[in-house]
Amino acid sequence: MPKSAPEAASIAPEVLAKYEAVIGLEVHVQLLTRTKIFCGCSTRFGDPPNTNVCPICLGLPGTLPVLNKRAVEMAMRAALALNCTVHDHSRFARKNYFYPDLPKGYQISQYELPLATGGWLEVEVAGAKKRVGITRLHLEEDAAKNLHEGFSQSATKAYIDYNRCGTPLIEIVSEPDMRVPEEAYAYLTELRQIMLYTGVSDCNMEEGSLRCDANVSVRPRGSKEFGTKVEVKNLNSFRFLQRAIEYEKNRQIDVLESGGRIAQETRLWNQAEGYTVSMRSKEKAHDYRYFPEPDLLPVHISSAWREEVRRTLPELPEARRTRFVNSYGITPYDVELLTATRTISQYFEDVVAAGAPGKAASNWILNELIGLLSDRKKPFQDSPPPEALAELLRMIESKQITAAVGKKVFATMFESGRTAAEIVASEGLGAQVSDRAIEQAAREIIAKNPDNVAKFKSGNEGVFKFFVGQVMKATRGQANPQAVNDILRKLLSS
Ligand SMILES: [Zn+2]
Repeated sequence: MPKSAPEAASIAPEVLAKYEAVIGLEVHVQLLTRTKIFCGCSTRFGDPPNTNVCPICLGLPGTLPVLNKRAVEMAMRAALALNCTVHDHSRFARKNYFYPDLPKGYQISQYELPLATGGWLEVEVAGAKKRVGITRLHLEEDAAKNLHEGFSQSATKAYIDYNRCGTPLIEIVSEPDMRVPEEAYAYLTELRQIMLYTGVSDCNMEEGSLRCDANVSVRPRGSKEFGTKVEVKNLNSFRFLQRAIEYEKNRQIDVLESGGRIAQETRLWNQAEGYTVSMRSKEKAHDYRYFPEPDLLPVHISSAWREEVRRTLPELPEARRTRFVNSYGITPYDVELLTATRTISQYFEDVVAAGAPGKAASNWILNELIGLLSDRKKPFQDSPPPEALAELLRMIESKQITAAVGKKVFATMFESGRTAAEIVASEGLGAQVSDRAIEQAAREIIAKNPDNVAKFKSGNEGVFKFFVGQVMKATRGQANPQAVNDILRKLLSS
């Protein structure tokens, strides 16, 4: 029986310190194609069960798959962004096994000749950068989905939704280069960001478009040999990933410390209980009897096509982060947040391009904008146009309004869609903030016009309009006339 969580967690720190974990990740990413990989059925998520199916994806006899070119192109994009070599020739293979969610009795995947190999990505944990190797990236079709709940006879019957069957996936296998759960977390975070930036997937973990399994083993610190590895499945959130690897590492150390031996097996992470349980032994694992898929031609990728795809790659997250730190003087922590998605970082660039200072744009997006969006539970797409935020930031920069008033203006802009200048003018907000500026302008004008001051003091009320006009002119008409009146009266009668 597997050790339960409390025992594994109660290992002494000095015992834990004797070992190190060796971690590799296998990540499945659903590609954002409109149609499936071998037929024209829609890949849309959330449609009624079994409405996006045809004889090909249902695996009926006599049908032939046709490869979706867009899926190959997206897989290539992902591979190039991960620094992989995309091979001229690759080939699909049949992975044979029987399961109800796989109507053909085999999955079309890639085996001996994958699309791409030999890449890497860089992760950063506690300020230390590290390269994690990527062994391979291959294309395959997804299986259908078993629905265990929510139907009238769920207790006694299995329900299967074949809509997902045949959706294009890429499987990305890392080298066993990670040593602590935090590195695995950083790897998956970076990988997800690259997939989002390149637009190959929406990486929605809740909808299953990003799935992760971990291979975990432990060995005495300093040893070069690998221990027996265990595959941990069902890591469907970033938090689970870290917890599950931590748990599994401790469990294996506990087994070794009590004189046991690690069984090569697949274990399932049970999030509710917080431990992994044995699912099946790898020693008894079935042989998939891979063989080249006879119904599909080998995949040939010309260097012209590969280079064309390479040219269309966007700036990747790491390059963008470095550029933001260097060009705008934003802290690495803020840059991390600002580049979390391509949409946010592009919005930032558009605000700066429209004339806002970089540092101020970053602060406003990360504090005011994100705050307003989350308060009102709105998506980022509902942000004011970048030009509108830039105008507001320029008004603050030129001291037409204070930052405090700017926040009020921004909230109004967010609700009404009106521009900052309109809001400031119609609500007299410019005046509120520039009381000091009005007073300064008024003092200067009074000092320059001793004759008119004398006239006013001798009872010539008409000359007051002259002063108001001059102050309004000096404040470019932005001041609140009432405030100008009040301030002038106070100064002239003192
Ligand atoms: Zn189909």
